[in-house]
Amino acid sequence: MSCLPAHLRLADCFHNRALDLIVNLDLFSGSEEGTGHSPSAFDLASQQAAQLRKLLHRYAHAYYTLDAPEVPDAEYDRLFEQLQSIETQYPVLLTADSPTQRVGGAVLPEFSTVRHQVPMLSIRTETDTEASGAAAFDTRIRKELALAEGASEVEYVAELKFDGLAMSLRYENGILVQAATRGDGEYGEDVTHNVRTIGQIPLQLFEVPSVLEVRGEVYMRRDDFDALNERQLLKISEGVKGEKTFVNPRNAAAGAVRQLDSNIAAQRPLSFFAYGLGEVLGWPLGVTPFQQHYDLLQALKIWGFPVAAQTQCVRGADGLIDFHAQIAQLRDKLPYDIDGVVYKVNDLGLQEKLGFVTREPRWAVAHKYPAQEELTTVQAIDVQVGRTGKLTPVAKLAPVFVGGVTVTNATLHNEDEARRKDVRVGDTVIVRRAGDVIPEVVSVVLAQRPLDTQIFTMPHVCPVCGSAALRDEDEADYRCSGGLFCGAQRKQAFLHFAQRRAVEVDGLGEKLIDQLVDAGVVSTLPDLYKLGLSALVQLDRMAEKSALNILAALEASKSTTLPRFIYGLGIRHVGEATAKEFARHFGTLDAFMNAPLDQLLEVSDVGPIVAQSVLAFFAQAHHQEIVAQLRACGVRWEEGAPAERVPKPLSGQTIVLTGTLPTLSRDEAKAMLEEAGAKVAGSVSQKTSYVVAGAEAGSKLDKALALGVPVLDEAGLLSLLKGDPNDGS
Ligand code: NAD
Repeated sequence: MSCLPAHLRLADCFHNRALDLIVNLDLFSGSEEGTGHSPSAFDLASQQAAQLRKLLHRYAHAYYTLDAPEVPDAEYDRLFEQLQSIETQYPVLLTADSPTQRVGGAVLPEFSTVRHQVPMLSIRTETDTEASGAAAFDTRIRKELALAEGASEVEYVAELKFDGLAMSLRYENGILVQAATRGDGEYGEDVTHNVRTIGQIPLQLFEVPSVLEVRGEVYMRRDDFDALNERQLLKISEGVKGEKTFVNPRNAAAGAVRQLDSNIAAQRPLSFFAYGLGEVLGWPLGVTPFQQHYDLLQALKIWGFPVAAQTQCVRGADGLIDFHAQIAQLRDKLPYDIDGVVYKVNDLGLQEKLGFVTREPRWAVAHKYPAQEELTTVQAIDVQVGRTGKLTPVAKLAPVFVGGVTVTNATLHNEDEARRKDVRVGDTVIVRRAGDVIPEVVSVVLAQRPLDTQIFTMPHVCPVCGSAALRDEDEADYRCSGGLFCGAQRKQAFLHFAQRRAVEVDGLGEKLIDQLVDAGVVSTLPDLYKLGLSALVQLDRMAEKSALNILAALEASKSTTLPRFIYGLGIRHVGEATAKEFARHFGTLDAFMNAPLDQLLEVSDVGPIVAQSVLAFFAQAHHQEIVAQLRACGVRWEEGAPAERVPKPLSGQTIVLTGTLPTLSRDEAKAMLEEAGAKVAGSVSQKTSYVVAGAEAGSKLDKALALGVPVLDEAGLLSLLKGDPNDGS
């Protein structure tokens, strides 16, 4: 049994990139097997809190400072909540630098820093359902204000929670003198030059306090966002350098506001909603300061700021619940993204009384909308072929607007997943697109299944080239065996080879590759270097100047490096880092291409899967031929001396681990063995060199004894790693 409560089980919640970052966090193996060597629950929570802080800092930096989020908001929110939950259970683990205690991100050095006289805070997010969340907030407020049972209901202002970025606009004597981002809440970035380009923001106000800071959200409407991305796509297709499309309106808005060049910001259509005030000094004669939040919103409107029409003054928890329900109905129809609603205590005197906790006011709470689900129908199940030949079934859906976008495809991942969900053409399905980027089919509405549907089966031939599609025993995916002969893989192979991180052929993008391959002008990589001007200018929209540029880029690409070339070949499982390792280790391409399994395994971080993949790649004659032809075409690199070969002590040995070792976790033992060159296998056979057995070893130990395979305990394993197996066996 794990000694941590379920909500603290970090491993349950991590996937994707988060996994990469959790460094060998094998927290549960020991305790689960009852060795008595597990760290205390507090130690585990402490380690987890540290990992979570690191991860959240990284994600927050990407999101706030770089405007390039690495994970969906939902994932960030989950981790954030997990950290909060640990900190609640163990308050001593709460550190001053915890993301739960801080606001937003850092100030970019390119901008001047602005100190906010009134801090710009975050808002606590209510995670309960609309009813219980609103009730919990109302109860908390009543308790903080010490209101008696029968006292009248608290008045709230309910607003939309705009999905943009917070902005503070400072007017002095009615003139806009400064616009600043929230930054870390205390210090923001001076972005006045860009904000001045936003038409909805008045540059001059009349009859206002001598110092007036207006707080609100800069955002991008969905239609403006779509049009912007269309323009970006056009620029990209025309080969304009440094252009990209934006993932969502929030990022596009944040990127525009934080431009150094206000001409660029001016081309990105931004909008603004006001929702509050910062520093206010020097009220005009005869004007009394506002008593209520709602009044200040009305004043903002009169001064010329956009204030959302949906804003309402409501009473008690019931009023909040009603508002939440109304906006939920409206959400998809709004021309901009909101990610929830915000409830604020209306009385400014009470707001002051309630005050703040570290990063958020006590008088406000945000209630986000849950992940959205929609019904649609499956029109077809297509099978797509990827660069590595992987066949992926994809459900083609009747277009459906869900989670803020129109979804027409949902991956079914592989045959097992498609079978598990039993999605069929003609089915009505629930599609979810929320937080996560990839839409998914949640389930089939069986009650609406037509009578004549057919169970989906994966084709056993590649739908693109007709070669056999094969599925390895321990793999979930089918793969086309057509290699570079397969049209789908060929295009991807060109793209991969020509990308910036590989051999880099500037200007050779997807559209051009499509044309070249579809027209049959190129079919293998060396054909690229045989291209002439006449072939290129015959392509659609290819002027002579562009064609000459492509030829120049091809010529330039011939001079490359060995790691880039190896990576560019697109060998399955060989990423950029592994390609570098191979190049460093072998020094020359020939040494790499001809390396037998044991030598490949000597390369740092290379395990059997990568090594086998390299062997299989070069075992194909046409791949050898392609490499030879590329060299003959003049593709070249500097070769080096191979790194000094120190054979690993356990190279060629296969070892099986079973039971619980007294001090080493399974992962630690495995890592040590692999580092020493051994292969760690899951089952015992005649070929097994040793079985390392700990407490409560089961059938694997029996089998080892039956087959006469030598058995080691932990001390024996350590001796083996030192080079003396007999010492402890
Ligand atoms: P928040 O966005 O949940 O709430 C505070 C912000 O709400 C304010 O600063 C303001 O900009 C905005 N807001 C919108 N409408 C408002 C209104 N009517 N009144 C007042 N404020 C209003 O909190 P946060 O601290 O800005 O950011 C946390 C959010 O950012 C999380 O929900 C998280 O999903 C997201 N985030 C995502 C990543 C990622 O990697 N994807 C990283 C960090 C943060």
